[in-house]
Amino acid sequence: VTETATVGILGGGQLGRMLALAGVPLGIRCLILEPAPGAPAAAAAQVLAAPYDDQAALEELARRCTVVTIEVEHVPVESLAWLAERLPVHPSPEVVAVGQDRLAEKRRLARLGVDTAPWAEPEQLERGFPAGTILKRRTGGFDGRGQVRLGPSASLADVAVARDALGAPAVAEGIVEFGRELSVIAARDPSGDVAVYPVVENRHADGILRETIAPAPRLTPELQAAAERLVVDVMDDLGHVGVLALELFDVDGRLLANELAPRVHNSGHWTIEGATTSQFEQHLRAVAGLPLGTGAARGPAAMVNVIGVEPDPAAVLAVPGAFLHRYGKEPRPQRKIGHVTVIGSDEAERDERLEVVRGVIRRASSP
Ligand code: AMP
Repeated sequence: VTETATVGILGGGQLGRMLALAGVPLGIRCLILEPAPGAPAAAAAQVLAAPYDDQAALEELARRCTVVTIEVEHVPVESLAWLAERLPVHPSPEVVAVGQDRLAEKRRLARLGVDTAPWAEPEQLERGFPAGTILKRRTGGFDGRGQVRLGPSASLADVAVARDALGAPAVAEGIVEFGRELSVIAARDPSGDVAVYPVVENRHADGILRETIAPAPRLTPELQAAAERLVVDVMDDLGHVGVLALELFDVDGRLLANELAPRVHNSGHWTIEGATTSQFEQHLRAVAGLPLGTGAARGPAAMVNVIGVEPDPAAVLAVPGAFLHRYGKEPRPQRKIGHVTVIGSDEAERDERLEVVRGVIRRASSP
């Protein structure tokens, strides 16, 4: 059997699992490097169980893979740089370095003229921001962890205490009174061709993504075009290859960039059933140098994360248009262990089904 490519992936979580699954019909094999035991990706790909800087494992990736990519940005840039001297690595180590560091990210966005929340290095804060301040760890924070919120009357002393509590270099951001959170996901191939998905609306609780509505309600062509410009500018500026997600705050139709992720993203899981080409297949196509597919939605969709507790699979699947994805992870509070995608022929049908799925997931959490 001729394989199209062997894609090495640093990270073997659910994103790696869904990437590996998407590779199967294309004849793309994935080889995963993941230090943690019980990697979700093991269901769909061979896993090298070793630290990200394990020399023997990196040599094996270099020997066996056509190209290397990531499913998590918190991997050592040095490992990617070592690999990049031997085979194509997408995203590049430089792009991953930007995605790892909120400060580097904000500087890059500022240079590009992309609007963000007001920000400062904590040391440079004369006083907090008028609407309050969020201190975020520069590196390593995710799902709302590694963040502290301070009210508008917080003093510099409060900032110092919060910074010490974070225990790592931080960046300070002004709190934005946004109407809603959106994201736009796109892919760029090595020749610079791009494909953009419809803008989606994301609903969070405790800093964790709970639901994605796709396309975003009340999505106008102007809003879509504005988001597309931003994400394409960012990808072009970075020379990015692969999928990239840009999280946005919608302030009365004005878009502020919150965070970028140079990888497949939780707010793109709906694309498996809801879009013409899933973000996972799209990423593999991009990094393997294959033509990109269209990102068009097939119709209205929504995604609900399964967090902490597994719902009854039969109850989920009894809902027409609902699709269950279980990650094979040990359930733990605040941990993403699966998701459900709901599609409908129109928004009303999608919303009706979504409400039933929410109920099933809620019942599992508080029986
Ligand atoms: P992040 O890890 O930066 O994506 O932040 C997690 C969540 O915290 C976001 O999805 C928002 O709901 C909220 N958040 C982050 N930054 C801000 C901000 N500057 N103003 C208001 N809310 C924010």
